[in-house]
Amino acid sequence: MAVAGEQSRTMDVAVVGGGPAGRWLAALLVRRGMSVAVVDPRPERGWEKTYGLWVDEVEDLTIKVDFDGIWSSPTVRVGALQGGAGRQLSRAYGRIDNGAFRRRLDEIIAGGRSRQIAGEAREVRYDEQGAALVCADGPELRCALVVDASGGAARLVDYEAEQVPAVQTAYGLDVKCSGDPLRGAAMVLMDYSPPAPAVEQPAIGAPSFLYGMARGGDRYFVEETVLMARPAVPVGRLKEALYRRLGALDIEVLERYGEERCEIPMGTALPVADQPTLAFGAAAGFVHPATGYQMARMLRAGPMVADAIADGLHDEREPAEVSRRCWEVMWPASRRRARRLLLFGMDALCGFERRAMSRFFDAFFELSTDDWGAYMSGESGAGKTAKIMWRLFRRAPMEIRLALARHILSSGGELRDALRPMARRETAPRGREKAHG
Ligand SMILES: Cc1cc2nc3c(=O)[nH]c(=O)nc-3n(C[C@H](O)[C@H](O)[C@H](O)COP(=O)(O)OP(=O)(O)OC[C@H]3O[C@@H](n4cnc5c(N)ncnc54)[C@H](O)[C@@H]3O)c2cc1C
Repeated sequence: MAVAGEQSRTMDVAVVGGGPAGRWLAALLVRRGMSVAVVDPRPERGWEKTYGLWVDEVEDLTIKVDFDGIWSSPTVRVGALQGGAGRQLSRAYGRIDNGAFRRRLDEIIAGGRSRQIAGEAREVRYDEQGAALVCADGPELRCALVVDASGGAARLVDYEAEQVPAVQTAYGLDVKCSGDPLRGAAMVLMDYSPPAPAVEQPAIGAPSFLYGMARGGDRYFVEETVLMARPAVPVGRLKEALYRRLGALDIEVLERYGEERCEIPMGTALPVADQPTLAFGAAAGFVHPATGYQMARMLRAGPMVADAIADGLHDEREPAEVSRRCWEVMWPASRRRARRLLLFGMDALCGFERRAMSRFFDAFFELSTDDWGAYMSGESGAGKTAKIMWRLFRRAPMEIRLALARHILSSGGELRDALRPMARRETAPRGREKAHG
């Protein structure tokens, strides 16, 4: 571990984790003139996950996001459109070029008074001089603020009490195929056709869909995905289902370039607001409870969080105060209430069978692009989220409305509790509402 000999070194910020969130925030901080240490057990290791997102969400960022594929009209095959050509969404979807984007961030980090350090962070200690990040081999890294960007299993921050998370699992293959698994589409966001009609839904345990991208020639990335389930569906079952799906389409895998085993806990607890160590990225609860997406939300939040850190350190504020301000940037009250609504949606969908899931998403993608885009962004406030959910409810077929109504009745007032603060706001005297911002 390379922290040895760093004892005397004081950085402005120590970022724990060299994943997308850690490197992104580090680069933004360097751009604001700060010295940053990025600590990761293996800083040289590449990012291995396939990261997809809506291109328009990251177009206006000051540091460019690199893509190795952009698809202007992704296909969804849901509801009655399941078997055929499906519905084309009019919104570009991109796959991040991990190598290029990481290099871009590393160059920015290397250009500042900053460094990447191999080490496993264990603990943060605070004293009058600031923070000391303690790594597995003992030495400490002194800094003004520690950011924990070590992903969903972050250990340096405290969390609110949590409900049992749902889990998105997926099994993906990057392969050369004898046929077209996407059946003519260039990119499939969601295909709920059963993996193999002849074998009727295998014992997956929850409805799975195909997600995939044509990568040129006869190369494809295909992934069998369970959007959310509680308990998690084992990845091995999705591997079987994917091969069964390919088999049913008479498609042979000619060459395998890589595989992806995906487990994303969804609806995990938020970090508590009042603590000196700041969480960022998946560690900060950014994973969307209804989709499992995180990247766009994290990339968009980054500049605001970096500004709040820069201002706080410039004004020589205590770490707890800087961390609190950043938390408020990430989790303003309305977004926290919106999250409760999204959690309600997540719980409802956990009980859906394939047909219901497919019909639900048929109604979802019939909403305007602005509406479903705002719902998926995880950035909308509670009022907007509630309106979109209501529009979706009105549009959904009776079978889905009944299932949602049953969930409302069985969830013991969960939805009512999430909506109550909004009802109060609506009846609050105008002046008072203003005072609360
Ligand atoms: C397979 C998969 C595919 C996904 N695909 C998408 C997608 O397409 N779009 C999307 O929006 N989201 C996606 N997600 C969700 C989410 O965006 C990713 O999980 C993303 O990697 C989270 O980024 P992060 O930087 O917060 O955490 P991570 O990527 O988990 O990075 C954490 C880093 O911290 C390091 N670390 C851990 N512990 C310590 C420690 N004690 N000390 C120092 N370093 C430590 C780790 O080595 C790692 O490098 C996916 C998730 C998975 C699992």
